[in-house]
Amino acid sequence: MHPKDLVTSTFRQRFDKEPTFVALAPGRVNILGEHVDFNDGFVLPAAIDRATYIAFAPAESGSEHSTLVAVDFGEEASFTLESIATKTNTDGAALPEWATYPAGVAWALKESSLTVPAIQAVFASDVPRGAGLSSSASVEMAFAIAWQTLSKWELPPMQRALLGQKAENQYVGVNCGIMDQFASACGISGKLLLLDCRSLEWQVLPVPEDVAIVIADTCVRRKLTDGAYNQRRQACEDAVKILSQHLPSVKALRDVSVDDFNRLSDQLPGVVEKRARHVVEEIERSRRAIPLLEQGNIREFGQIMNECHASLRDLYEVSIPELNVMVEIAQSLPGCLGARLTGAGFGGCTANLVEKSVAEAFAAELAQQYEGKTSLKPEIYICKASDGARLV
Ligand code: ADP
Ligand code: MG
Repeated sequence: MHPKDLVTSTFRQRFDKEPTFVALAPGRVNILGEHVDFNDGFVLPAAIDRATYIAFAPAESGSEHSTLVAVDFGEEASFTLESIATKTNTDGAALPEWATYPAGVAWALKESSLTVPAIQAVFASDVPRGAGLSSSASVEMAFAIAWQTLSKWELPPMQRALLGQKAENQYVGVNCGIMDQFASACGISGKLLLLDCRSLEWQVLPVPEDVAIVIADTCVRRKLTDGAYNQRRQACEDAVKILSQHLPSVKALRDVSVDDFNRLSDQLPGVVEKRARHVVEEIERSRRAIPLLEQGNIREFGQIMNECHASLRDLYEVSIPELNVMVEIAQSLPGCLGARLTGAGFGGCTANLVEKSVAEAFAAELAQQYEGKTSLKPEIYICKASDGARLV
């Protein structure tokens, strides 16, 4: 059953009435600009047509209990504005992990002195979890819409995104950047979203009508990768420290041009040089991408995606054999304009731009060849760039 129907029918069964509203918040895929957010770079994600759906109504009058049903987990949690601080259910037990995402949003809203009415909510999603398509941000942004709908306040999408990020950083305890919530909140149908991670200014760039976004999940899941990410972050910080001795205006790798980097790269230890080169060149790639997308030159843009993959594989070193296999097969197939690993790496998905007319054949062939080479059954999603979180 589609999650929209699932949440509606589950709401009826659980609460014995119709939901007052249904909202959705999409997952997202990043098309270009990987591992550059904490270097003040640019990211280029799109919201996708897979989403978390939430059916909801105000709690019974006088009740301060929010009751949440996570259909995908077959579980229920309940909290009040008081019990949120201690991350406990109203029965005193610890909130289940999934409930910390919506509770975190309630906490962040409250911290901003926004009202958080008690709610009855049922939610379910067709964004795969932990695949790098940001199921967590889609849950947060769906609940942000729900609480906004039941309140008198209204926030611009970027403000909702920032509250979601705060919830995930400070309440759930996951150190994510702003891209995920931003894309889920601000998505626009048929567009890529170009976000400047320094100023948080953003603009949209078109995806041609005849191009599909195909996401291929290797079905390999990253595990215990925090150390690897932290090392890379540290390498970028080390590079900034050294480069800023020569270029005093450099505050982040964003401020280093490719020319300056090439001139000074022998000042950097080998591994630091590789990590920082990826970032500097990736930011340069996103700058080159803008006019290409504006002109509808998706072929050259696709080449830039391919370059991005090679850089993540060889310089930033966050790829794994399965991701490389998935990308190599994709790049060899007819109609493929560009392919690369997307998200943090070490597992998860690849993003592919594919001529829409052959997208089905591409997906079938990609799945078959990937399984042949790895004995893993991948999931392939043919997506389109979609609108952000909203009532439906
Ligand atoms: P992702 O890359 O998909 O965002 P995360 O590890 O950041 O992966 O977030 C996954 C977590 O978000 C899940 O473990 C769960 O706690 C929560 N979540 C995501 N989707 C759902 C869902 N459909 N129902 C309940 N919780 C969900
Ligand atoms: Mg997440």
